[in-house]
Amino acid sequence: MNQEELQKLVEEISLKYFHVPFKYEVKINNRMTTTGGRYFLNDHHIDINGHFLEEKYRSDLIGIIKHELTHYHLHLAGGGYQHRNRDFKNLLAYVGGSRYAPDLGLRRRQKKKYIYECENCHLQYPRVRRVNTRKYRCGKCGGRLVLVKKNK
Ligand SMILES: [Zn+2]
Ligand SMILES: [Zn+2]
Repeated sequence: MNQEELQKLVEEISLKYFHVPFKYEVKINNRMTTTGGRYFLNDHHIDINGHFLEEKYRSDLIGIIKHELTHYHLHLAGGGYQHRNRDFKNLLAYVGGSRYAPDLGLRRRQKKKYIYECENCHLQYPRVRRVNTRKYRCGKCGGRLVLVKKNK
């Protein structure tokens, strides 16, 4: 499915399920990994995770589009357009949108660069980023954490 076909599909779903046209742009975003799509409050366009454009993800794609359109229509109508809002939950359920994008396993495993160890109980804490050891202590015993290894 290309951008043009995706745009058409979103416009069709908008009319069919929300009975209001979608008048902005749909963009394909191939950098998305764990989310299916995103609605942008500032210019009302929608990004769709390009990985879901494969034919085998068709029904997932429709669920994602309904989800993003739920944000869109509620936002423009002045309703509660955020996930936690009752309006959002109701409309999403009504149109049959998906709550979460299915996990495609695209999330990059982040390498744990820093290994901290508790001085007291020697429990290790692998971390992606540096930890402020003056602020954070061992979750098990409250001991001081020390950096024991830094991987490249
Ligand atoms: Zn959302
Ligand atoms: Zn400890």
